[in-house]
Amino acid sequence: MVSAQPAFGGMFRQLIELGVVEIDTEPLDARIERRLKEFWENTSCPRCGHQSIVTWDALDRIWCRDCNFKPVYTYGTPFHEKHLSGGEVLLAFTLYADTLLSINQIAPFLGRAYRTVYTAIREVEAAVQRGFPVVWSLLAQTIDGPTQVDESGKVCSGYKGQETPRNSRSRGGSSRSGRSRWRGRHGDQLTLVAACRDSLRVIRGQLGIDYSGDLEPVIQEAEDLSQPLGEVWTDGLQAYREMERDHRTVVHKERYVSPSGVHINQVECLFSLIQPWLRKFRGLSKQGLEQAAHTFGIVRSLNLAGETTESVIDCLVIGAFRSST
Ligand SMILES: [Zn+2]
Repeated sequence: MVSAQPAFGGMFRQLIELGVVEIDTEPLDARIERRLKEFWENTSCPRCGHQSIVTWDALDRIWCRDCNFKPVYTYGTPFHEKHLSGGEVLLAFTLYADTLLSINQIAPFLGRAYRTVYTAIREVEAAVQRGFPVVWSLLAQTIDGPTQVDESGKVCSGYKGQETPRNSRSRGGSSRSGRSRWRGRHGDQLTLVAACRDSLRVIRGQLGIDYSGDLEPVIQEAEDLSQPLGEVWTDGLQAYREMERDHRTVVHKERYVSPSGVHINQVECLFSLIQPWLRKFRGLSKQGLEQAAHTFGIVRSLNLAGETTESVIDCLVIGAFRSST
């Protein structure tokens, strides 16, 4: 009898249990602390609203000169009152967002309970999503060229059967082929919609099992993050004809590259990357899966733009302060 083992990570876990892998997050802890304190000095007091907060390198407490409020510097952020240090929280998020490790594998790596790690990752994720637009707009980069837009096949978040994703080739009227479908008895099904422009990647999940995905939200989001939007390239699915975009939208019906050079290869490449990544979220709720898909776009964008962990910290910190005001 073979016991149920994850496909990957069993031996790695043994090494973790042997203490082979030592984690030292101190350099990261220090960076996060410094960044948070910088933000405190430039933000208004959450209690009295005045911009008169003072910080010190050697002190955990920050201080409002006006109302005498003295919280710790992590106050109101995803780092607050955790059983994890700031660096551990960010490490957990990085392993979640930027590797194929699941939270089930990340928790023992950090030597923490699943719940603790799960909660920390979710809070960081929400903050990163809030802060990303500001950080992205501040990066010294020019985003131009056409925007490719497409929707994926269905994604099932809770499949429990042993069926692997199966490729269905649709022939005939549709130009589309090679969708991966994850079949299962339970779980929500989502359609992913993605937009790619230069290094920018926007991914949204939409509840539903039919291919009537609305492309407008991701196009709008891509526009907000890379104004002004140029041509929009899509393929010829029925739903796209309903788009209320103007002449800038270029539709092609052939697969790969149309005679006019229009294609959506970048989006197809993105979907091929996100699928193995999303596979680690078995059993996640619809909201969780939607949030994860959106996170993947953000982290992919930052990676493609050549950004470092520093910009993730900034997303997180800006997002945290936005929620607390
Ligand atoms: Zn105050």
